[in-house]
Amino acid sequence: MNEVMKKNQRIYLDYNATTPCDPRIVETMLPYFTTMPGNAASRSHPFGWEAAEAVSNARNQIANLIGADEREIIFTSGATEGDNLALKGVFEMYRRKGNHIITVETEHKAVLDTCLYLEKQGGEITYLKVNKAGLINLEELRAAIKSTTILVAIMWANNETGVIQPMSEIGKICDEEGVLLFSDATQAVGKIPTFPKNIGIHLMAFTAHKMYGPKGVGALFVNRRRPRVKLTAQIDGGGHEEGMRSGTLNVPGIVGFGKAAAIAQAEMEAESIRLNLLRNKLETALSTEIEECSINGTTEHRLSQVSNLSFRHVDSEGLLMTFNQNIAVATGSACTSASLDPSHVLTAMDIPDDLAKSSIRFSLGRFTTEEEIDFTIEKVKAGTAQLRALSPVWEMFKEGLI
Ligand SMILES: *Cc1c(COP(=O)(O)O)cnc(C)c1O
Repeated sequence: MNEVMKKNQRIYLDYNATTPCDPRIVETMLPYFTTMPGNAASRSHPFGWEAAEAVSNARNQIANLIGADEREIIFTSGATEGDNLALKGVFEMYRRKGNHIITVETEHKAVLDTCLYLEKQGGEITYLKVNKAGLINLEELRAAIKSTTILVAIMWANNETGVIQPMSEIGKICDEEGVLLFSDATQAVGKIPTFPKNIGIHLMAFTAHKMYGPKGVGALFVNRRRPRVKLTAQIDGGGHEEGMRSGTLNVPGIVGFGKAAAIAQAEMEAESIRLNLLRNKLETALSTEIEECSINGTTEHRLSQVSNLSFRHVDSEGLLMTFNQNIAVATGSACTSASLDPSHVLTAMDIPDDLAKSSIRFSLGRFTTEEEIDFTIEKVKAGTAQLRALSPVWEMFKEGLI
């Protein structure tokens, strides 16, 4: 690798924060900004008809990816809105049945902050703990369900660690206990098979920009039969999307989302094998060649493209500085990285604050190459060595003083 490349290279390893748009997707979207500008709700002219047809086609592609009926796909502005709509919509609609919701400490802030809001509205929320591996305890879930429970909200795969919850078993428990199950599947859809109807998930949120589509468009799957799930709309006006989410549809975005779903469906298997090899190369090199490097989260039930690592006595922000902006990775959670608190996900997994603050999330994706991984390995090894050489704390640790 030559010096010029090293200086100017920008390696993107933050795919869990957002993915670049796949050029094939951009190309599919373009005409819907210009020559086909119709509103999908305009029924009186061909511009409207072709927009409606494009939306219908995309809805079909997305429904296919998750094994749902087209009418079960409610378009939103993204997963944050989907999480809000599922939680608030169920809470308001099923209020007479109960006010209790069960979720998990490691959920995304879009779920946790919505739960905080619902607590102020009279909701009772149970936050399940996770073990060191990042997994919930199924018996604790079952024991937490009571007569007032109206919803269980558990994410499919964690954005920070990639840890995958046992959704089939969770679905079985919710079915036996007769409660609705919602999953934030933002990190799972398009990466692993996600068929909510087969395993008893009644609501599922996901978003285009985590699967190579555009930002600002997502979907909420809402089960229509046995049971028919009803939601109180959170945005009124016009009655679009089965009355659950009004507003003019983002036609180009939805077209891109559909194309993203079709590509993911076709390429998921091969891509996850490729990424698994690259991720393992990175993780094995770092965890064996760097002292005191630990993997956060189970390696058994995990997405194939994420690695969350802690480098003991190395401040992750400091490590980032040694990359000279050549490598884009996340420390803590991207969504809350303005705060210096350790990640709530790692804290919930009982990882001590100092190790949480020395953690880095590497998330790989469709455009990651082996050269980029090789370069990253070298940079991280050099950076940790550099910081530790200057660190009195590391010296004390090595001398067995702490
Ligand atoms: C990115 C993400 C979200 C937020 O999605 P937006 O479409 O950006 O609102 C929600 N949940 C999880 C798990 C995520 O990774």
